[in-house]
Amino acid sequence: MALENEYMNYLKKPIEDATRRELYEAMCDLVKDRSAALSKIEGKKKLYYISAEFLVGKQLGKNLINLGIYDDMSRILKNHGKSLEDVEESEKEPSLGNGGLGRLAACFLDSIATLNMEGDGVGLNYHFGLFKQQFRDHKQYEIPDEWLSCKNMLRDTGVRFPVMLAGKQYESHMYDMDIIGYKGNRNTLHLFDLDSVDESIVHDGIQFDKTDIAKNLTLFLYPDDSDKAGQLLRIYQQYFMVASAAQLIVKEEKEKGHDIRHLDQYVSVQINDTHPSLIIPELIRILINEGIPMRKAGDIVSNVCGYTNHTILAEALEKWPLSYLMEVVPHLIPIIEGLDYAVYCAFNANPDLAIIDEENRVHMAKMDMHFSHSINGVAALHTEILKHQELKPFYNVYASKFNNKTNGITFRRFLMHSNHELSDYIDSLIGEGWKSDASHLEELLRYYNDENVLSRLEEIKYNNKVRCAKMIKEREGIEVDPNSVFDVQIKRMHEYKRQQMNALWVIYMYKQIKRGNRPQRPITVIFGGKAAPAYIMAKNIIHLILCLQELVNNDPEVSPWLKVVMITNYNVHKAEKLVPACDISEQISLASKEASGTGNMKFMLNGAVTLGTADGANVEIRNLVGNDNIYIFGRTSDEVIGLYNSRGYHSIDYYNRSHSIHEIVDFLTGPELLAIGDSKMLGDLKENLINKDWFMTLLDIESYCAVKETALYDYENRAWWKRKSLVNTAKAGFFSSDRTINDYNWDIWHIR
Ligand SMILES: *Cc1c(COP(=O)(O)O)cnc(C)c1O
Repeated sequence: MALENEYMNYLKKPIEDATRRELYEAMCDLVKDRSAALSKIEGKKKLYYISAEFLVGKQLGKNLINLGIYDDMSRILKNHGKSLEDVEESEKEPSLGNGGLGRLAACFLDSIATLNMEGDGVGLNYHFGLFKQQFRDHKQYEIPDEWLSCKNMLRDTGVRFPVMLAGKQYESHMYDMDIIGYKGNRNTLHLFDLDSVDESIVHDGIQFDKTDIAKNLTLFLYPDDSDKAGQLLRIYQQYFMVASAAQLIVKEEKEKGHDIRHLDQYVSVQINDTHPSLIIPELIRILINEGIPMRKAGDIVSNVCGYTNHTILAEALEKWPLSYLMEVVPHLIPIIEGLDYAVYCAFNANPDLAIIDEENRVHMAKMDMHFSHSINGVAALHTEILKHQELKPFYNVYASKFNNKTNGITFRRFLMHSNHELSDYIDSLIGEGWKSDASHLEELLRYYNDENVLSRLEEIKYNNKVRCAKMIKEREGIEVDPNSVFDVQIKRMHEYKRQQMNALWVIYMYKQIKRGNRPQRPITVIFGGKAAPAYIMAKNIIHLILCLQELVNNDPEVSPWLKVVMITNYNVHKAEKLVPACDISEQISLASKEASGTGNMKFMLNGAVTLGTADGANVEIRNLVGNDNIYIFGRTSDEVIGLYNSRGYHSIDYYNRSHSIHEIVDFLTGPELLAIGDSKMLGDLKENLINKDWFMTLLDIESYCAVKETALYDYENRAWWKRKSLVNTAKAGFFSSDRTINDYNWDIWHIR
């Protein structure tokens, strides 16, 4: 009753009479005020997690859960004929990230606050985020994602810092979002913005004048960098972010009465991928201005900073021309050159270790590795590959800096919030201990042979599929059968993730059904993901999937047995709807290429069975659940790395040698698809698979089709499958981001 009265103070009208939007806005204000009343978390040492992305997802539901009032709020609305889930739909999802890396940062903030560690996020307040995805003519189009147009959790702090860009002074403006720990206190996500940014310069989708920094600086995350103006803009953004972060750190340290010459005693900075790397020379510059010699400043900053590597894909390891940095941040050049010289002297001019290469490009990751005390990969296999392949020269000289921190996800969002029914049922079986210590989920194994429990779990999965089918009908206009197998691959579009392989399987299955070889049960293949606007091949793959969606779903012979769904504008909210409904989790990246994956963890937690390669965290999932409860196929990372090193893979040989591969690849430019799609896009895709196939689709396609057949066959052994599902949920505790954050704290940050 007290909560209802409190809510009425914000709503100022009967719940019955309020619109969804009014209900949302009043609740948003209530959450903000409740949050402001919580104490700020304080500790002896504070973490700053700096990241270009924070893919935080919708805030209302998560905050209600962490404040401990979700169920009460839900009941209050229900008593008045309204639904909290409907109210949550009113919120626009903050578009502050791209994929796994940004989602990881968001899960980490949740866990850091929940574990009562003092740690804030620092990033940028992109007005239009990455972009909003639309489909027309079976193609992706990008438009601005106007998330700020809706009431949100941001608070204008009025705090401003001067930032020098290309010799001119700008002023960053700090907006804060509270990060509430689960039944705990709060930390903050600080997002910096520039007042002069002008949204009206955006036209024709997401085009804008890339040279007008005052107007464009914080419009978009990852603006197109295919030309010089775009690359300069990225550097402007990165420096704007870290210069603001550094001044925030100094300001807070001074307010605490700390001497910043002992910064390493009080502050940890985690550098999430290479985008925030300029924090290193910037902090060194500030310490030098405090009268500390360069060498000492370098040591202090190394003790403060840790670097997380997220990928072995060369194109993602940023290298900026020194001349570009001279243009944007001339005041950092003496520092960067000084650091490069120190490395040159320390390692006998070894070119593998040089920060500035012979072509005068600055390797951000190399600067990070020299001037951080910790270098971590994000899954066991990934860290081993870094140590022994990609970053071997650095491992040889800095072995003790290297460590692994297998990624995790917050169970508050990806189970408690996204799957109420399963979450409540788990509570009824084993109590609520798993919410603060996820390893308790293993207690579910007690029910391995309990028919009642297994049937109830099956029923919950079915109910989630019904809800998901409803969303697909409403949003995509496609009818799907909740009794079909839900086979789901949702993630950014990238050739290494191999959505194209799954699409080729759809062609294989289409042909089988046409020949009268029907599956035992209908199958719904669900895709979702954005392609980077300049990534042609990823857009071609989307085109193929959308053409297959049209072809398959409208074929009266095939569609009763097979449906294809491409979800529009995949984001955290869509993930929360899709993950609980999934039976088979597609994690089919080329072995060695997916650093960790976190989608795989969300699915496992919600009782899906993984079908994947021995890549990233899939390897650790297999070790936890055992081979009976996962489907692993394809070449191993050692085999793949061997093929790259020997240049021994030629996709055309696979195309020529196998009749069935030949047939499905040729289908790309066969009459069925050409009647629907664009001959250039489909032709380029086919040509690429036959003559290039850098991510080795044709190498693994046959074993993929074979293992998928096995999985679909096993699915019909319902008793067995239900147990696989139970084991996956029970063993998911390791992948709680609470565990990950405890590991970071223990090995790297020492903040608590
Ligand atoms: C979890 C998540 C990802 C990462 O998925 P992967 O399968 O690990 O690549 C990307 N986008 C969103 C919206 C997510 O929620």
